[in-house]
Amino acid sequence: MVQIFLEDRAYDCGPGENVLDALLRQDVALSFSCKKGICQSCLMKVDAGEVPESAKEGLRDTLREQGYFLPCVCRPTTALKIRRPDDAAAYIPARVLALEPLAESIRRVFFEPSAAFQYRAGQFVNLRREDGLARTYSLVTVPGQEPYPGVDVKLMPGGRMSNWVFDGLTPGTTLDIQGPNGACTYVPGRPDQPILMVGNGSGLGALAAIARDALAQGHTGPIDLYHGTRYPAGLYLRGELSHLAKTAANFRYHPCVSGPEAGDGQRPARADDAAFADHPDLTDRRIFLCGLAAMVNGAKRAAYLAGAEITDIYADPYELQDLRHDRAA
Ligand SMILES: Cc1cc2nc3c(=O)[nH]c(=O)nc-3n(C[C@H](O)[C@H](O)[C@H](O)COP(=O)(O)OP(=O)(O)OC[C@H]3O[C@@H](n4cnc5c(N)ncnc54)[C@H](O)[C@@H]3O)c2cc1C
Repeated sequence: MVQIFLEDRAYDCGPGENVLDALLRQDVALSFSCKKGICQSCLMKVDAGEVPESAKEGLRDTLREQGYFLPCVCRPTTALKIRRPDDAAAYIPARVLALEPLAESIRRVFFEPSAAFQYRAGQFVNLRREDGLARTYSLVTVPGQEPYPGVDVKLMPGGRMSNWVFDGLTPGTTLDIQGPNGACTYVPGRPDQPILMVGNGSGLGALAAIARDALAQGHTGPIDLYHGTRYPAGLYLRGELSHLAKTAANFRYHPCVSGPEAGDGQRPARADDAAFADHPDLTDRRIFLCGLAAMVNGAKRAAYLAGAEITDIYADPYELQDLRHDRAA
């Protein structure tokens, strides 16, 4: 058992327990989302004590240098004095500019950050509502191609943030944003390397933006993008991607429908199954995976077993909030 000091109070952290779970168990109200060290929405800062290096993985250097760490994957072995993030360092206000319906259950939200915001297509941000509810969304715009950053939000039945985005959010609202985070982006170099992209649901937005970014940066190797949904109505950006496939000779778009209603030109399969059937040997291929965590984590393993180098696999699993503590954030 070690002690955690936060805001002049001491809390216990049990053997093997992470800092976030320990604080939630003792009724500290905190923002969090995935609880797997991915989304960074629970970010905190250490003032004294040793935070394991593994609790800083994936953080930007500027945040690491300031003592930030991820409490959801921090299992301390010594006492820690910690504090909530300085909002000025971690979150900045952003004004919602427009909400664009892309499909019945997908809405694109464009926003204007109040300070300089440099990002790459495919990175992600945490959006925080006034009441502290925070969720993670991938950036689906390409700097230089679109004037403002945007994210695609998929409506989740009973989901708190996504239902609010559909029913309560209006242009002009100010949200807080933290980020950009993550490394699921196109890195220039090896322009002839074949690229395979696999996504489901709202994972398409990030993949489409990464593909546009790659093409704009002169990528010449083939880019195959597989998007999967259960019903044809979930296939969005079809016009944009079909147009891209006509104008860029090395880009191919493969819409997939896993339910029984696949229409003309749609593969009656899951996107990952179709992609791996078409490309059984992934040696020397760059892979991008975005969407629901079960698909992304399974496809990551499958890609590695099919010959892709682990350093060539860029994956963002969209972990939903851990619901063990559904009273908080
Ligand atoms: C790196 C990353 C990137 C992401 N990018 C995107 C993106 O680009 N687009 C996108 O749409 N999403 C993305 N997500 C997921 C996103 O952060 C949210 O998890 C998602 O929008 C759902 O949030 P919500 O508040 O609407 O749902 P939540 O309220 O968190 O609920 C999630 C699901 O759990 C169910 N649920 C809620 N409470 C309970 C309960 N007590 N018992 C049982 N079930 C319950 C809900 O019905 C819902 O289906 C990403 C996640 C990560 C980690």
